[in-house]
Amino acid sequence: MTVAYLGLGANLGDARQTLKDAVVCLAQQHTITVLAKSSLYRTAPIDAGGDDYYNCVVKLETTLPVRHLLALCHKIESHFGRERPFRNAPRTLDLDILLYGDHSIDEPDLIVPHPRLTERAFVLVPLTELAPDLTIPQRGRADAFLAAVADQRIERMKSPCQCPVLNALGGSNDSTSTTKGRCS
Ligand code: ADP
Ligand code: MG
Repeated sequence: MTVAYLGLGANLGDARQTLKDAVVCLAQQHTITVLAKSSLYRTAPIDAGGDDYYNCVVKLETTLPVRHLLALCHKIESHFGRERPFRNAPRTLDLDILLYGDHSIDEPDLIVPHPRLTERAFVLVPLTELAPDLTIPQRGRADAFLAAVADQRIERMKSPCQCPVLNALGGSNDSTSTTKGRCS
């Protein structure tokens, strides 16, 4: 079993619903146990045009080797209609492997920890919400990078959600989002 963190993002179609559905989709895999889900955040596109993004981070435990996890991420992205017309194009769903245990991987099509993890508020904020004391292999404490991304627009969402699965997962480490009936 390996603990991994995935970053989810979307800014095309019903992005909020897609993120919620994608978390359920992950939780339904027999090779994955979803341990926690961050709050949902609305964020400014970076190095890209298009609408605002919705983002969250999921902590999971998996028996999948990292390459199988990447393949699963791609399969779920495709299921939700992901297309790649050009780099940083708006997307129905982006699923990135942020961390996979304490592994460091540097291959042409897979870099873990994710290379832009420490430069993006839309990853760092939900990640440190889930794991305030997290250490990133070869980079140190995750929260040490928060100050450098403080100028990136990010807003935590608090909309009502009726889904019992997501409510059970949502913001378990976040004292401000534990109200029954809210998951994001
Ligand atoms: P973005 O970089 O905006 O997420 P894509 O989702 O299209 O763009 O990913 C492009 C490629 O990045 C993927 O085909 C994948 O092989 C590669 N990649 C490298 N490292 C990772 C990672 N840690 N998680 C997900 N994809 C990765
Ligand atoms: Mg991606």
